[in-house]
Amino acid sequence: MADQRANTRLLTGDEQEQVRLWFELPPITASSGDTRLPWDARLAGGQWDDQKKEELRTELTTAMTNGFSETYKNVFWKAKASHIPMEQVVPIARAAKRIVDTLYAEWLGNAVLTLDQMRERSQRTFTHQGAGANVIEVSDEAARGKDTWEKRIYEAVKTFVAFSASCQKVMKTHHFYPYGDRKEEALFLTKLFWEYAEANQNMIDVFDRYGSAYSDPASGKIFVSGAVRDWDGKDTRLAKVRDRKWELFGKIVHEYLHLLEHPLVPDATANNPRVREGFCEHLTIQTIAHVKGFADATLKDLAAEVEGDMNHPDAGRWNHFLNTYAPNPDYAAAVGHVKEFAAKHDENAVRAVFFQGHTEFLGRQATGWLPAAPSPAKGMQAIPVGRAFDTPAKLADVTRHDKKEIMSEYPVWVDEKTAPAHVVVQGFRGHRVASIGGIAETWQQIAAQHEVDPGDLSKRHGMADPPKDDWVLIPRSQ
Ligand SMILES: [Zn+2]
Repeated sequence: MADQRANTRLLTGDEQEQVRLWFELPPITASSGDTRLPWDARLAGGQWDDQKKEELRTELTTAMTNGFSETYKNVFWKAKASHIPMEQVVPIARAAKRIVDTLYAEWLGNAVLTLDQMRERSQRTFTHQGAGANVIEVSDEAARGKDTWEKRIYEAVKTFVAFSASCQKVMKTHHFYPYGDRKEEALFLTKLFWEYAEANQNMIDVFDRYGSAYSDPASGKIFVSGAVRDWDGKDTRLAKVRDRKWELFGKIVHEYLHLLEHPLVPDATANNPRVREGFCEHLTIQTIAHVKGFADATLKDLAAEVEGDMNHPDAGRWNHFLNTYAPNPDYAAAVGHVKEFAAKHDENAVRAVFFQGHTEFLGRQATGWLPAAPSPAKGMQAIPVGRAFDTPAKLADVTRHDKKEIMSEYPVWVDEKTAPAHVVVQGFRGHRVASIGGIAETWQQIAAQHEVDPGDLSKRHGMADPPKDDWVLIPRSQ
């Protein structure tokens, strides 16, 4: 076990602004934060310039069509290619799952989940067979299930636009920011996406079936393509088939990590695609680097699982994959921002956000922003005041500090109503108690995240259970 919160702290105002810009999160407050110009179709008095709306619709439609046609050219070969069958992909998925589960076990083990989520995760085994099939050939319409076809086409358009540089450029030119809190913009785009999806079903269907892998956290299913270029589907020992299997290993690590993203993250970020793909691919790169560090014998065992045939072991194949792995170019910018975030706020903050839903490290609580933290004073972090210590007496109880001393430091603080926004407590750090579906983190989970004694936490706070969505205090071991 380790202190999973080492080197983490809450964001100051400037840092919140930086994180907001990196990931295009909504403005911090309606009055102070939103410095972006309004959409050029907005007129004074709540009126709309219909011609400007039409201009955006036309330009965006053109950018979408150009982008989709380009992708179509690059992926259409897959429609005619031979595919590695999913029964050979399942062992790759199981290996990817085992490695990711082991690497992040401590983080995953301390995350608060609903009972259904816990059950789903603990019972998850990858298989391509039967009703429980969860490793699925993405181009196999029947296996994917027809009932969600329309939604899939719509989602494909939405994802494409979110990461298309030319679409993003068109939107910026018109000061059109659909992500976050601008409702008119979001409605305009939703309508356009549905119209576009309906009018271009066939092209988008090819993009959807061959353009990318994806996964669905609700059902725990992973969708990948086994297509191999210029292959007759016979000899699986060929280098190009082995290379494709390693590529699938990388893709499945990424897709499996999506299944482990804490469900509080999409809530807090309005399903922000930069957070979703950036964090996920950052951790994918980390996992691949971890595999690269395996001993030769371990790598050879892994190769047997991934390649499925080790009568002709060829270290050239896995070395090629491990040495050349690069993120999907569409995600490179988002990954770059996560890397900057990790360098500044620590890898521990990345993992607390992604696996445990501690979005306060992005400055977020539920769907809003936390009050920005003051800059650290005398090397100590300020802690937002929670119900468990909102009077000097309660703070003295929790921390076992002298009440008189606390009162001399905060002279106007006498009760809950006069509590300061933050306190600085020597030897303590704050913890925001995460909750989902009415279930809050336990003292055990919190203690494990900070590597302290759970009984001590419960006793100090005088509470059998931690206060949901509120702050508690953690004594540092030092
Ligand atoms: Zn992804």
